[in-house]
Formats: sequence, structure tokens, C-alpha cells
Amino acid sequence: MFELSPVLAGCREKERLLVAQNKAFDVYSRITAELAKHAGMMADADFQFLYDIVVTARQVLSEASHHLSEHTAKHGC
Ligand SMILES: [Zn+2]
Repeated sequence: MFELSPVLAGCREKERLLVAQNKAFDVYSRITAELAKHAGMMADADFQFLYDIVVTARQVLSEASHHLSEHTAKHGC
């Protein structure tokens, strides 16, 4: 979905944004998997704690995607 392509090597800023997006996606998917694995086995407070992190991670991911597409649109890269 968010693969790093060698074609993008021409634009450093895009590369940077892409790495940030990949990192955000990685964090989001790992926490989501963690949450799914332990759901039902943990206390409500713990679940809520992880869930809040998932929501934040999703926000970070969507901002990163937004920055990336904004840059691509402006820069035409
Ligand atoms: Zn660019």
C-alpha cells in the first residue's frame, strides 16, 4: 500500500514524507494488531489506553498521507 519506490529518489522531500507515512503506518498496524490480540483479555482501562493510542496513531497516519498527497500535488513529483 505505501511502498517505497526507487522512482521517487528524485525528490528528497517526498522521500522524507513517504518514510514518515510508512513509519506511521507501521506503528498504527502494530498497535492495532496488539489490540486485536489482547482484546477481551485485558482490563477496560488497559484497552482504553491502547485504543487511545490507536486513535492517535491513525490521526498521525492520516496527516502523513495528507502531507504526502499535498506535496505531490504542489510539486508534481
Ligand atoms: Zn516533490
